[in-house]
Amino acid sequence: MKAVQFLGSVPRYVYSMAAGKLTRRAFYDRFSNIQLRDVDPPALPNDEWVKIRTTHAGFCGSDKNLVLLHDSPSTSPFSSFPFTLGHENVGVVAEMGAKAALALSGAGAGAGARAEAGAGAGSEPGSGTSPGAGPGGGPGARSEPNLATRSRAGSGTGDPAPIPIKVGTRVLVDPVLSCRPRGIDPVCPACARGDTSLCSNFTEGTVSPGFAIGTCRDTGGGWSEEFVAHYSQLIPVPDNVSSENAVLVDAFCSSLHPVMRNFPPDDASVLVVGCGVIGISAVAAIRALGSRARIVALAKYKFQADAALAYGADSVVFMRGKGGGSAGGSDYYSELAKLSEARLLQPIMGKRVVVGGFDYVFDCVGSSTSIDDSLRFTRPGGAMVLVGLASFPKGVDWTPIWMKEVQVKGSFWCSTEEFEGRRMRTYEVAMELMRTGRLDLSPLLTHKFRLADYRHAIEANLNAGREKLIKSAFVFY
Ligand SMILES: [Zn+2]
Ligand SMILES: [Zn+2]
Repeated sequence: MKAVQFLGSVPRYVYSMAAGKLTRRAFYDRFSNIQLRDVDPPALPNDEWVKIRTTHAGFCGSDKNLVLLHDSPSTSPFSSFPFTLGHENVGVVAEMGAKAALALSGAGAGAGARAEAGAGAGSEPGSGTSPGAGPGGGPGARSEPNLATRSRAGSGTGDPAPIPIKVGTRVLVDPVLSCRPRGIDPVCPACARGDTSLCSNFTEGTVSPGFAIGTCRDTGGGWSEEFVAHYSQLIPVPDNVSSENAVLVDAFCSSLHPVMRNFPPDDASVLVVGCGVIGISAVAAIRALGSRARIVALAKYKFQADAALAYGADSVVFMRGKGGGSAGGSDYYSELAKLSEARLLQPIMGKRVVVGGFDYVFDCVGSSTSIDDSLRFTRPGGAMVLVGLASFPKGVDWTPIWMKEVQVKGSFWCSTEEFEGRRMRTYEVAMELMRTGRLDLSPLLTHKFRLADYRHAIEANLNAGREKLIKSAFVFY
């Protein structure tokens, strides 16, 4: 079968870094690390795994970073080469290992094994206890079953009937290859708390190193017709949720997770920096969860601003000019200051100093400029949440962090949340918001590509502004 792979070859890396100075095609031409190849479909690592036929696979901002070789080398030990790209995957179950089939049948013990998100359950269905009980959970508190496995008794409160997973079921795949998919028992302390994206075993266990499906050479990925997943990674897609919606879940969860962990109350002011799919998702997450906080979004393009407003931002400021420029004029610093009732002071040199600012700033870009701006526009004692994938920011002034006692919060992908009294995977929270009509992200899927056109997909993502691209995906049907 065909697969778009990242080869991880050093000579190809050197070629792309050199030739890439002349043309960006050098990052994805035939001498680069990104290649469409004929490969064997991945085998099931053991009988707890499932084969998925891909129908939709998202093109993530992190995939763009990978193509452009922007990632910090400190992430490279958490992948194994060559790997097939694609971690934002929706598909249909094509084959199940025996244990997987038993666990996902929705009957008895199997359902119990899926009850918590990595909360200490062992590899044997139902064998786990819940040592960590998760942050916020009381001592010994056990997680509630997730949506796929809740009993019908709950249907009176709008909870769904359980959806058993069998061959042919449409599923969304939580790609994180933490302890549980890796067959590691007992799970690490992070996984025991449900913080699966902070797992300490991304290099251990059943499959080769990799944070996730889409960075691991054994699992395959969604940028091909088939890949494999551990049964615990599957989330059934309810009939009333489209695959176009489901394929947006991963991007949305990158924002939903930090929003839930830094939730702005109704009287808070929020600045969302960046209106790519992650920034728009931050706005959508705040609103879908019911906060009436005042949201200002900082956007580059009109089509992004329109989307941010449609998902509930109160106002949008356009990034133009240089934030650090002159004291006068209608630049974005002045507009943000006005909207947050902050004052701007001109230092003897350099960017303006902000007195006041927003209670919460979600930096959904992660660039040197966005980090610097975000720190400046966080009010004293407020929280600056780094959602974007920063690596080596240059020229960031740290003064606001100590002078304003700003809390800088990190966020990596998504894991487990407290939601409506239950412990659920971030992915499941998103799915529940979609199932209950509180969230529809399908308008954000602006571009679809066939796998053979992967170079066009890369080019469209590299020119997202001109292409009016918010989110793109490969489709296989
Ligand atoms: Zn992603
Ligand atoms: Zn772990």
